[in-house]
Amino acid sequence: MQKTEVKTLTHFINGVEVEGKSGRFGDVFNPSTGEKIAKVPLASTEEVNEVVKLAKEGFTHWSKVSVGKRVEVLHKFRALLVENTDRLAYAIGEENGKTISDATGEITRGIESVDFAIGAPHLLKGEHSVNVGGEINSYSMHKPLGVVTCIAPFNFPVMVPVAMSTMAVAVGNAMILKPSEKVPHSALILAELWSEAGLPAGVWNVVNGDKEAVDALLTNKDVMAVSFVGSTKVAEAVYEKGTKNHKRVQAFGGGKNNMVIMPDADIDTAVNSFLGAAYGAASQRCMAISTAIPVGEKTADAFVAKLTEKVNELKVGKFDDQEADFGPVISAEAKASVIKSIDLAIEEGAVLAADGRNPKVADENGYYLAPTLLDHVTTDMNVYKEEVFGPARIVVRVNTLEQAIDLINEHEYGNGVTLYTNSGSAARTFTDQIEVGMVGVNVPIPIPVGYHNFGGWKRSRFGEGQMFGPDTVRFFTKTKTVSERWFDTSYNDESKTDFDFPSS
Ligand code: NAD
Repeated sequence: MQKTEVKTLTHFINGVEVEGKSGRFGDVFNPSTGEKIAKVPLASTEEVNEVVKLAKEGFTHWSKVSVGKRVEVLHKFRALLVENTDRLAYAIGEENGKTISDATGEITRGIESVDFAIGAPHLLKGEHSVNVGGEINSYSMHKPLGVVTCIAPFNFPVMVPVAMSTMAVAVGNAMILKPSEKVPHSALILAELWSEAGLPAGVWNVVNGDKEAVDALLTNKDVMAVSFVGSTKVAEAVYEKGTKNHKRVQAFGGGKNNMVIMPDADIDTAVNSFLGAAYGAASQRCMAISTAIPVGEKTADAFVAKLTEKVNELKVGKFDDQEADFGPVISAEAKASVIKSIDLAIEEGAVLAADGRNPKVADENGYYLAPTLLDHVTTDMNVYKEEVFGPARIVVRVNTLEQAIDLINEHEYGNGVTLYTNSGSAARTFTDQIEVGMVGVNVPIPIPVGYHNFGGWKRSRFGEGQMFGPDTVRFFTKTKTVSERWFDTSYNDESKTDFDFPSS
């Protein structure tokens, strides 16, 4: 029996909540109970085009506000994020399924990127050269682009939208956020907090929707830039359509992240690091470690024995169960797809060290999976090649560090990787030779802090420009370079017209 009232959500446009007009809705579920908790409006092309028009008006005003005044709003927004952390964490947990403590962690990482964006006055400073020739001074400035959009995935309902959009607004753009239709609630809370912080109407809008809304954003001529985060298949399609429509596009996709464990590494440390990095958030992180690559049979046997023991102690439970290490996966389809990957891996010859397909849980209707560990996985198996977005993790055994580096470099993804070792020389070889965008050494999840750039290589990212750090400023601005000369009043130009190319 349905226990919760099903809310009908809205968009947030031009400073107010706006009901959906398309007549199309998506269902939002609580993955911990399987209950439908809300209906989210799915915007039509016409609705999206209307938001773009209003955002364009918002941009006209906001881009003229001094950067100091813009940053005042960011300071207030930051304070409100801190004040509303519990409320946001509950909203994330309820519709995403991650534990409250994990959700709180994601909000903290989001706040880091607000801290960085508060430095916009410094980051927007251009370059200036005096007397580049003929008493001409040359300087550059970073101008906002106009209306920009962020299209977000379900797995970080607050961190990704905040990281993607705050700098965009700080540098003077107007933002349209298209959250995942699976987790729309926290984006509406963020919109409310931006308004309360004093952001003028039209500068930060939320349009809910699915492919139709995304396509409308990608084809509207007044959308200047698209920052997308999601699966590789959609990231590639968004990149292609967006660039074809002359937009600046950065599209972050999926990953298959490895932890290499050297024979000299401390096995207990490596196992503990693997547990959190691999199974945290039910493995639904783009930077989750999916593959352990122990080097040498002895290392592998010791690592798998200890890991199996610990994996069987992990507790999966409701998002607000304080004892739970992680919660359910996002949907019944996601659960079925993870089970299918495990079944196929066993058929292909992988050895099941821990089986999480039938967990004992309090609520049978939730989308729970306990941790699964598959040993002796080989590179021809599907479970090695594809991103599995759920708690089924694998072990691939190799004999040397070089073999580990080669197989990671051959993989189509290149998001994150980490090495556990006590050897400086191994670490140096690894960090130098590995073809991956975010690299750790004795760090479980090498996700960069808010003031460093974030982004994968290969098919984990399409387009240029990274998230988080200084690249965000470059992505959301265009550079103008001015060459300027001023004559004094007594100036009398007696020179002839010069037809040669100017030089200093
Ligand atoms: P997804 O690709 O299904 O959805 C992402 C966004 O795209 C959503 O807003 C969705 O509404 C929209 N969308 C879905 N299908 C579309 C289509 N056919 N055309 C246009 N838009 C479409 O991804 P998800 O399941 O929400 O998120 C999980 C994926 O995101 C994983 O693959 C994960 O690795 C990846 N991810 C990557 C990063 C990163 O930084 N590289 C960060 C977080 C998540």
